[in-house]
This record gives sequence, C-alpha cells and structure tokens, in this order.
Amino acid sequence: MLETLRRIVQEVNAAPDLSAALEVMVSRVRKSMGTEVCSIYLLDHGANRYYLMATEGLNKSAVGNATLHFSEGLVGQVGMREEPINLDDAPSHPKFRYLQETGEEPFHSFLGVPIIHHRKLLGVLVVQQRESRKFDQQEEAFLVTISAQLAAVVAHAEATGAIDGIFGNKGTLTAKFDGVAGCTGVAIGRAHVVYPPANFKSVPDRAAKNIKKELRALNEALKSVRTEIRALGEKALLTLPPEEQALFQVYERMLDDAALAGEIRARIEAGNWAQGALREVVLKHVAAFESMEDSYLRARASDVRDLGLRILAYLQQSKPQNTTVPPNTIIVGDDITPTIFVDIPRDRILGIVSQHGSSNSHMSIVARSLGIPTVVGVGDVPLSRLEGLELIVDGHRGEVIVSPSGEVLRQYRAIIDEEKQLSKELEVVADLPCITTDGHRITLYVNTGLMADVGISIQRGAEGVGLYRTEIPFMVRDRFPSELEQMEIYRQQLEAFHPASVTMRTLDIGGDKALPYFPIHEDNPFLGWRGIRVTLDHPEIFLVQIRAMLWASESLDNLRIMLPMVSSITEIEEAMHLIHRAYLEVLEEGAHVVMPQVGVMIEVPAAVYQCREFVQQCDFVSVGSNDLTQYILAVDRNNRRVANLYHAFHPAVLRALQTVVTEVKAEGKPVSICGELAGDPRGAILLMAMGYDTLSMSASSLLRVKWVLRKIGLARAKEILQQVWTMDNAQVIRSHMDLMMERAGLGSFIRPMHFPGPAKEPTT
Ligand code: PEP
Ligand code: MG
Repeated sequence: MLETLRRIVQEVNAAPDLSAALEVMVSRVRKSMGTEVCSIYLLDHGANRYYLMATEGLNKSAVGNATLHFSEGLVGQVGMREEPINLDDAPSHPKFRYLQETGEEPFHSFLGVPIIHHRKLLGVLVVQQRESRKFDQQEEAFLVTISAQLAAVVAHAEATGAIDGIFGNKGTLTAKFDGVAGCTGVAIGRAHVVYPPANFKSVPDRAAKNIKKELRALNEALKSVRTEIRALGEKALLTLPPEEQALFQVYERMLDDAALAGEIRARIEAGNWAQGALREVVLKHVAAFESMEDSYLRARASDVRDLGLRILAYLQQSKPQNTTVPPNTIIVGDDITPTIFVDIPRDRILGIVSQHGSSNSHMSIVARSLGIPTVVGVGDVPLSRLEGLELIVDGHRGEVIVSPSGEVLRQYRAIIDEEKQLSKELEVVADLPCITTDGHRITLYVNTGLMADVGISIQRGAEGVGLYRTEIPFMVRDRFPSELEQMEIYRQQLEAFHPASVTMRTLDIGGDKALPYFPIHEDNPFLGWRGIRVTLDHPEIFLVQIRAMLWASESLDNLRIMLPMVSSITEIEEAMHLIHRAYLEVLEEGAHVVMPQVGVMIEVPAAVYQCREFVQQCDFVSVGSNDLTQYILAVDRNNRRVANLYHAFHPAVLRALQTVVTEVKAEGKPVSICGELAGDPRGAILLMAMGYDTLSMSASSLLRVKWVLRKIGLARAKEILQQVWTMDNAQVIRSHMDLMMERAGLGSFIRPMHFPGPAKEPTT
C-alpha cells in the first residue's frame, strides 16, 4: 500500500498542471483499488458549487459540466460532514442525487472522502462500484491518505490561481498569496527572484535575452562538468569496485548531445535561458525515473539530479552578480537570509518576500531593523513565474499581490503616502524622553545587528542598545571573523552609542541561525546545540569574541555582555569563568578596561523558574520573548504551519513575563525585555504595566512605541493589564488590546487606516 501511495504521489506531483494531476490521480486510484469509478469533485468557493473535475468510469463529457450545490447529493454530505461516507447502496440513500450526464446509475457502492487542506474544504474524492458492498477499513484508510496528499496539490493550485482557470473563471491575472507579516509597511516594486546555488526548485523560467550567449554558457558548464566527472572517475579507479566505476562513464554519456545536452540545447533554442532549460530537462527525467517499477532504474533518478545540479552550479557561477538589480526591486526567494544585503545595495530593495520563515525568523528581524516591508512564509508563491512582475508587499496583513489591478495599486499608493505622513509626525518625539502622562519614565533601547541600524537608531532617539546580535556580522562572512575584525566591528557600535551602553550578546547560532561555514545539522535544532551551548563547547570561539568585545570597549567602558539560551546555573558559572579569564588576559596585555556588566537572557521556561538564582550570579537579565514564546507554547517560531499558534499575547507567556520581572526586581537587579513583543505598542503597554522599565526593540518600532507610551498613563496601563489577567486566550487579549488602542485614539499605530480589520498575524 505504501509503495503504491508513494508512486501515485510522485506521479501527481510530476504532472505539469492541475488537470493532468487530477487525471493521474483518478486513473491510478481506480486501478490500485480495483474499483470501477474514481472521481474528483472540486468546490468552487465563489459559486458555492462542486464541479466534477476528473473521472475514470463516469462519462468523460461530464467533466467540467456535472455540478452540485454545496449541500446537494452524497458529495455535498461528505463535504458538510467533513468525514468519509461509505455506503453499499448509494441510490437508496435519501441524499442521493442522480446526475444524468455522468451515467452513474449502475453503481451501488459509494465511498466519498473530503479533500481538506489546513481546515479548508476543497472538494470530495469518490470511488464507486457496480456491485453492492461496503468498502473495507483498509480501502477507506487508503482513500483518506490519498485525499490528504491531493489536498496539498489542490491548495497550491488554488493559491496560484490555476484553479480559477479550470473552473473557467475569467477574472484578472491578479493573484494574492498569504504569508506572515515579517516587517510592517507596504512596498510596490518589481520582483527579482534570487535563488540559492544549485537548487532547481527556485530556478525561474526566463526568456533568453541572447540565445547564443545562453548556449555558450551551457557549453562551458558541460565542459567543466565533464572534466570534473573524468577526475572523479580516475579517483574511482583506485577506490571503487569495477561495477561502480562504470557509473562515471554513464554520467559522461548522459552529457552527450544525444542525451541530456541535446534536449537542453533544444529548449534554449526555443527561448528559455540555460538554467531554466536545464531545470526542465533534468526534472522531466528525474520524474520519469522515479516513477519506474524497477528499483534499479528508480535509483537512477538521483544520478540525473546530481549531474543536473553539477551543471547548474557552473551555470550559476557565471551568472551576472545580483548587484545589477534595478532600483525599486522586491527581492523574492525560497529562503531569503540577511546575506542578501551583501550582494544587493540596500537602497535598491523596497520589499522582501520569502517562501520560508516566520515573523520571528532572522530575516524578519533584520528587515524590521531596516524598516523594509517583508512577507515571509509565502509557501505557495510560484517563484519561477514571478521574475519582473509588479508586486505589492503588504507587510501589515502578510500578503503579496502579484500584477495588481489599477484600483488596487491606487489604494496601496494611498496607504504608502499615509504612512509617510505618519512617520513624519512621529519624528517629533525622537528627541523627547519616553514619559507617560502620569510621569512614569521608561527607557527605550534598540536591537541592532548591522551597521546600518546605528544611524537610524540614533536618529530616532535610542537611549542605548539592549541587544546587539553579534551573529549577524558572523553570518555575512565565509569564515569566523578574526579577533581584530570582530574588535573593529564592535568598536564601531560602542563608539556610535557612547556614552550610552551597548549590550552585546555572545554568538547565538544554531536553531534558525546557521553560519554557512559552520553547518549544524540536527533533527530538532531548536532543542539542540544552540546559543551558549555551542560557545561553551568551543571556548576558543567564545574567548576570542569576549576578548574582542573587551578590547573594543577600551576607554569607552560602555560595554555590557549578555549570554543567550541559558538553561542552567552551570552554564552561567562556566561562561563567567571564561569571561573573567579573557578579562585578566586583556588586562595583562595592557588594555585599560573596566569589567563589564554581564547578564543572561531569559528564553526558556527553565530560566523563568530559576531567574532569581540566575540573576544572583550576574548583573542583569533580559527576556528574549521570541524564544520564550516558542518554548512555552511548543511552537516553532519558523514553522508556517503553526504560525497561527505562535502568540506572544498567550496568557501563559504573559504570566511568565510577569514572573520574571517580579522575581528579578525582588533581587534588586535590572530587568529588561528585548523580544519583538516590546516593539509592539500593545505589548509595550502591558510590559510597562508589569514593571519592565527598559524595553529594547528594532529601530523601526521605536517612535511608534514612544508615541503610544507618551499618550497613556501607567495607572491606565495597569488597569488594562488587570483586565487582561481575567482573559484566557491570546486572540481575546489581542483584540482587547486593539480595542483599547482604538478607544485611546491610537488605532493607527496598530494598523493602517484603510484596512477594514486587524492584521492577520501579529506584527511581533
Ligand atoms: C529572543 O529570542 O527574543 C531574542 C531577542 O533573540 P533572537 O530573536 O535573536 O533569538
Ligand atoms: Mg533568542
């Protein structure tokens, strides 16, 4: 069963379009279940009707014509009940509805299962049989499993607009894709697709501008791969048995004109650029091999893919650098990381769209610090078809609109103008202190990571740095930076903010933060080797970093050091020991530095319960609410499937935040918060009421938060918090906060005025 299932899914995924995928599905399911009919009815949500979209066994002429209202027939019953219906005599069921054009009269047995994706009903998959019998448990389970797989294919087609075509809807070419808000704001620009090296998934189709040039690039790449394969073959003579050595000759033959090369050339001559042509040919052969019965031949699929990737790697090396992107570009890609800023000048990037990521992934955090409207987790966006198209990035609602119509463009342009106006108004508070209407003083720090953050942070009146993410300069290099290199980078930060303090977090890699030159592969990266765990296991990396920080602070003395992801006292003790050692070393070497304050981040539940003991070992704590939320709720902060469960306003998270501030204050030590919740005006109100007197946030949130806190009294914030304590769920709390903001006349700080409702995803 599993093998059959795997094969069907592979064939369905390899189909060129939705209609072909549905055809493959009905024919394979009918064959493998040995039934007489298999049909797929898809629900047209606009018309509220099912349409027969594919069938084997009913009249083919009924496809696209046979239709049922949402509540009609057995199909309607399956959809409404959202569970399988298994009948031995369908025509005798009161809901049976005879559709003449399908010719289904002679069939008695009926098994229908709903096609559901992420709670949304998309259609119904049906098998029927002449003989009157109930389908057995195994058959039912098989159909349910197949339907779950089909759901992903249909959902993708729906998201990309392909489904409108098969329902015959005319509509416009505009398509909208849902993701998660990474950075608020709206951008309108042209898509430029960037792709990681050697990855077919994100190679776009592009018209070849110069066919001769593309053919030359292909020839060069083929020549290099041949040389590479020959060299590997020679090595293999010494190491591999003769039957394995033959593989290299097979590889070489596959590169011949009579095989892959000829086909790729033909597609280039037909107008596709070399990478697109290569992708088409290689994926076609991979799919063909993968669907073969014979296991030896099936395994050849990986040979073709491997060869294809080698050619692609050479083609991509010769591609023009990304620095040539035109102004007003929206960067789009599979998994965009902050390293794009190395290749592309910042001022050309108006917006960012990434298929992966979440509102708290690193890309989003960096985008927020630079104020670039960003939507992440847009899994369905068809990368290969976007190049050069006009896009709207709606970072408030987490949406991307492709080829917007004139009216939509007009509305969004109005929003952009309105936002510009709002930020101008906000600038008046830049040099004012953050004091509430009843005289309570709050300190607002910024989170930084790039040098680009510094200018705007100072311009917006940041009182210091509550979190400097040191991993960002590590991420944009191809090796660990040396002590001197680090020292120079840190010195720039310390000097820029002097005499205000700069809190430098020690290297926090692992989880979602990978260094290209220090890969960590784990099944459960967020529960694995990350943060302080990595650096304590590599004292040489840790010591170099601390020494660089200490040297950088010479004669400035505004450095604070902070340790990430601490979950036990021993980690603090060990880190303190290393920090003192580094301190003594630099003193002996002649540095004139004072011992900096050292703090720990509260990011895991263990740290919440032990924050008192933790702070007794150090000078301050700062809550990393991004990680704390993910660990308290057991929701991966980067997983778009569960993005709707990630709520910093969850009562359990809020209680943990209250516990930390109460306990640490009882020890008489400073406590701040540097997670994204602090940069959400609603979060800032609650945090101030809890007792946090230092909030650290991205520079782009600073003025909004300051404006809002200056408009509210501490006493009022405490009243709101008291109301929140009586609420038992995150959505209610968030809506309550929205309402409070509206009532205080601060609604425009949580959503732009044009939108009818609140943003779908929290902006934190
Ligand atoms: C946090 O977890 O809240 C935090 C500030 O750290 P990061 O987002 O870099 O993991
Ligand atoms: Mg963290």
